[in-house]
Amino acid sequence: MRVQKELSFRKAMAVNKVVVFKRGFTYPICPRCQVTLEREYVHYCDRCGQCLCWSGFSKAEIVKKF
Ligand SMILES: [Zn+2]
Repeated sequence: MRVQKELSFRKAMAVNKVVVFKRGFTYPICPRCQVTLEREYVHYCDRCGQCLCWSGFSKAEIVKKF
């Protein structure tokens, strides 16, 4: 089980949510730990190390935060 969990971090997860703040700043959200990523198109989440896939990012769901 432990091995499977480690492998799941290496398998890319699609980034499918983006937060839009009031001033127009947008931040993608890590699909694993839900933290906002500081930059787009990074290969790994800074926080949890999840490998990220950006192929569907243009269709990401927009989550507004004000
Ligand atoms: Zn993460």
